[in-house]
Amino acid sequence: MGILEKMRLDGKTAFVTGGARGIGKSVAAALCEAGSNVAVVDVDYQEAEKTASELQTLGTGVIAVSCDVTDQDQVNQMVRTIVEHFGSLDVAFCNAGICTNYPAEEMTFEQWKKVIDVNLTGVFLTAQAAGKQMIQQGGGSIIATASMSAHIVNVPQPQCAYNASKAGVRQLVKSLAVEWAQKNVRVNSISPGYIGTDLVLSSPTLIPLIEQWKKVSPMGRIGRPDELQAVVVYLAGEASSFTTGSDFVVDGAFTSI
Ligand code: NDP
Repeated sequence: MGILEKMRLDGKTAFVTGGARGIGKSVAAALCEAGSNVAVVDVDYQEAEKTASELQTLGTGVIAVSCDVTDQDQVNQMVRTIVEHFGSLDVAFCNAGICTNYPAEEMTFEQWKKVIDVNLTGVFLTAQAAGKQMIQQGGGSIIATASMSAHIVNVPQPQCAYNASKAGVRQLVKSLAVEWAQKNVRVNSISPGYIGTDLVLSSPTLIPLIEQWKKVSPMGRIGRPDELQAVVVYLAGEASSFTTGSDFVVDGAFTSI
């Protein structure tokens, strides 16, 4: 099989959490373009439905599924719905995440817990539900969205819960990769640098910092969601058959300096 053929995902089924917008939406489109059926999974069902109907024009099967990744019953139901609809689950992009910026000494327990629940527990619950189905089927590929914040402490904004949650994702991914290596379920993560999505562009704390980040970024800019598409498509399919437990930093060299 040639390399371009190995990058194809024809006949496969993927879910994308946080798929309604931002990085999730862009990657969902790429998975469709590579031939996969896609479930656009989001807590914002209205937006997920809008995204799903846009992606249906790409020619593969696309559905919207409402799911809060912090709720185990909803997560298990989400996987059941997808398997009932498409017959299998081959690729899981565990991507939903939130960012808050509170100084550590002022953060409430609830504020801490919310970020850990969505970013770390949410990835565990969705990866666990996907992993169970994939083990039963004989294999699959799970990709989680970590962050460059798994590797560095961003400045000047305070975000200790976010940074800790993403470092947790990185170690969770390595753990699952080792546990499931013999079961043909691969588990990897991507670690984006700053990307122009609502997570950044609708945060009153982060918007004024964008120019500062650009000044210290070797490429002098932030990234676009479409610049993460290829790495996820690669990780989803046969081209990455020996790649598991790995993390792919895509940050325009921000963390290299
Ligand atoms: P966006 O805010 O643009 O999109 C995230 C989506 O996830 C939203 O639709 C959001 O819904 C949804 N979501 C939030 N909470 C839940 C939940 N509990 N269950 C299901 N869906 C939920 O963010 P990005 O696309 O930028 O972020 C995607 C991922 O990439 C996140 O994990 C983020 O941490 C990570 N990342 C982002 C970077 C960036 O600079 N943008 C950099 C590095 C990593 P709603 O809007 O209704 O809350």
